[in-house]
Amino acid sequence: MSASRRTIAWLRGDLRVDDNPALATALERGTDGCTAVYLIDDAFWSRHHWGPARRGMNLRAVAAMRAGLAEAGIDLRVLTTASNPAEEVIAEACRLLGATEVHVNREFGVDELRRDERVAIRLADANVDLRRHHDQTILPVEEIRSGAGTPYTVFTPFKRKWIALLGEAGIPAPLDPPRTSDPPLKTSPPLADEIDLDTALRDVPESAFEAGEAEPHRRLEAFLDGPVERYHDDRDPPSLDGTSTISPWLACGSISPRRILMVLTRRFGPDPAAWAKGPSTWLSELIWREFYRHVMDGIPKLSMDRPLHGWTDRVRWRDDEAGFTAWCDGRTGIAIVDAGMRQLAATGWMHNRVRMITATFLAKHLLIDWRRGERFFMHQLVDGDFPSNNGGWQWAASTGTDAAPYFRIFNPDRQAERFDPEATYIRRWIPEYDGPGSMKPIVDLKAARVRAIETFKTAKNG
Ligand SMILES: Cc1cc2nc3c(=O)[nH]c(=O)nc-3n(C[C@H](O)[C@H](O)[C@H](O)COP(=O)(O)OP(=O)(O)OC[C@H]3O[C@@H](n4cnc5c(N)ncnc54)[C@H](O)[C@@H]3O)c2cc1C
Repeated sequence: MSASRRTIAWLRGDLRVDDNPALATALERGTDGCTAVYLIDDAFWSRHHWGPARRGMNLRAVAAMRAGLAEAGIDLRVLTTASNPAEEVIAEACRLLGATEVHVNREFGVDELRRDERVAIRLADANVDLRRHHDQTILPVEEIRSGAGTPYTVFTPFKRKWIALLGEAGIPAPLDPPRTSDPPLKTSPPLADEIDLDTALRDVPESAFEAGEAEPHRRLEAFLDGPVERYHDDRDPPSLDGTSTISPWLACGSISPRRILMVLTRRFGPDPAAWAKGPSTWLSELIWREFYRHVMDGIPKLSMDRPLHGWTDRVRWRDDEAGFTAWCDGRTGIAIVDAGMRQLAATGWMHNRVRMITATFLAKHLLIDWRRGERFFMHQLVDGDFPSNNGGWQWAASTGTDAAPYFRIFNPDRQAERFDPEATYIRRWIPEYDGPGSMKPIVDLKAARVRAIETFKTAKNG
């Protein structure tokens, strides 16, 4: 006979019932009841520059998950840190529910780890156990180390190790969603919602990205039904629907990367080394996502606004408010940059190639501190994901892992000629575009390139 016990599953970046280790364990161990809770933490979100698109995606995903959990007889309560910090809110929920265990899926980033540590200490005072589960990645990337025992800072050897570990451990089996309980699991004494979700949802902007668990699976299947075969070629031209567009759901945890890998292996076989170029390139992108979480975990300064390469702290970034505003507004006069920034403003999403071009333009041609761009992206993106965003920005600014060498600078016009030769993407976002030379750039690309190289060289020689 197992002991009678009440548990809490505290949901955060894991808004799904499928393959959710914290939820599954809380349910299994909550022999006398399990309640799911979600905390609206406005201050935390603001500190991490989450904008309306990202907040809206999360709140809608919470609503979808509440419906999914209700079908399984599990209550989801929405709490808030408006008056009390997270540790007090969770401790009070435990007191009201008589819960002795709280299960969470581990999140990456220093603030997240510190918050969980504070919660663990506070709960321990009340004889409640905070149990942390591995979740956000396919493999436990926080445990991966190089031969020298250090975290990897270059992608290719990390990927090699990752593939080898996958071969040794086998494809991790995703956990099935909870089955309907009959009678429903008890959650008495009741814990009330502190925020009315329907009211909160009225304030979030419309979005073309339908929150919940069904849509990412639909997109995944549609992608695997065809586009994945040409992914290695089609992922670069931004006018094509050549990528999966699954990132918003991965960011809020509505689909699990382990489930994705399982679906991939069912389609293409158990050994990724034997896959065709398309699916194998796509897997590499999922491994990039794992890599950025690996470095963020192993090198804490990355989540403290610091570059990986210390010398780049000496770069004298320009103070150029007009340039920054023009970039944000998509009015730099460089067609591909403006098209990308307008896509971002209109949809909350931007094609990867164009993220690379717009980020490089800000950090190199305008020589504006990459952290300003990183924050702006985070505020605008519906798929805002701290490790991937930081990794992408540090790559573009030549300050981070696998960084583009500072003297190799994308020319945005050449990039447009190569990846958008008919200006199809540019015209979609800038209807008034009238061909090369029709816009007035705010910088001379050649001179700006030389200025960036000289500035970086001075910093490096430092
Ligand atoms: C400056 C910059 C900022 C970025 N900010 C974010 C961000 O906030 N959130 C985010 O999810 N991605 C970010 N990326 C990575 C990438 O642009 C997006 O993941 C991708 O465009 C999402 O589209 P998709 O789902 O169609 O990707 P697909 O090409 O279908 O790839 C599948 C998945 O692999 C992962 N992935 C793909 N490329 C990368 C990459 N370069 N780095 C890490 N993971 C990757 C994503 O989870 C993506 O959903 C950024 C890249 C750059 C250059």
